Amino acid sequence: MTPIRLVHLYPDLMSVYGDRGNVLTLMRRAEWRNIPLVVTELSVGDTLDPSDVDLVFFGGGQDREQSVVSPDFLAQKAAAVCQAVEDGAAVLSVCGGYQLLGASYTTVDGQELPGGGLFDVRSVPGPRRHIGNVLVETTLGGQPRTLIGFENHSGRTYLGTDVRPLGRVVVGAGNNGEDGTEGAVYRGAIGCYLHGSLLPKNPWLADRLLTQALAHRLGEPVTLEPLDDTLEEDAHTAVATRIRAPRGRVRSGAW
Ligand code: GLN
Repeated sequence: MTPIRLVHLYPDLMSVYGDRGNVLTLMRRAEWRNIPLVVTELSVGDTLDPSDVDLVFFGGGQDREQSVVSPDFLAQKAAAVCQAVEDGAAVLSVCGGYQLLGASYTTVDGQELPGGGLFDVRSVPGPRRHIGNVLVETTLGGQPRTLIGFENHSGRTYLGTDVRPLGRVVVGAGNNGEDGTEGAVYRGAIGCYLHGSLLPKNPWLADRLLTQALAHRLGEPVTLEPLDDTLEEDAHTAVATRIRAPRGRVRSGAW
């Protein structure tokens, strides 16, 4: 079978709080189904051909890394990512990567970094850092589900009219700590503030990305073989319960 082509952007500069675990999860869930998947790591100086990619992962990083990555991303890769998404490819971007896929990100020092423009969002510095576990309700994929993750950002992201939020925060700050939204969705592209790693504890999202990527690769709709996600679901439920519990009421040692 022709392999899914996963491009991991700037793994050397933009990968914090377990972001790489998302790539490992995608690799493993494809392998468990005997679906070949190849990972190409691209960094500063590398170019991206939009016809060579089915799935993009762009992780988080701090302002310093983002200011290094931003000019290279705009010059060498952003247009290709946007074109690939228009052609049906999938994207998962987290925090710093999500911010750089918006219209712009302004650093804490006031430097405005132009973004790739995939998402109609703008990110600006905020007065405080949002750090902690996040619980999000989403209907992405049709049915109500929860996503759990960990956020650590001072940037606040505001959605424009050409993008919809990934979900609504139940616990945590999400996009900006004000309007209750978290993340952004445009076609097969997802941006979010959820580190963690995100995908091991939210396996349906990993499968959504793989389904999109495989359909793009094969040029026809696909349905993935289900996996036994008992362990992953138990992990999700345990963490969601813990996040929802009011402070001080979490039983120590229960998880
Ligand atoms: N530098 C960005 C912020 O603090 C992104 C941080 C991150 O990727 N965790 O908002």
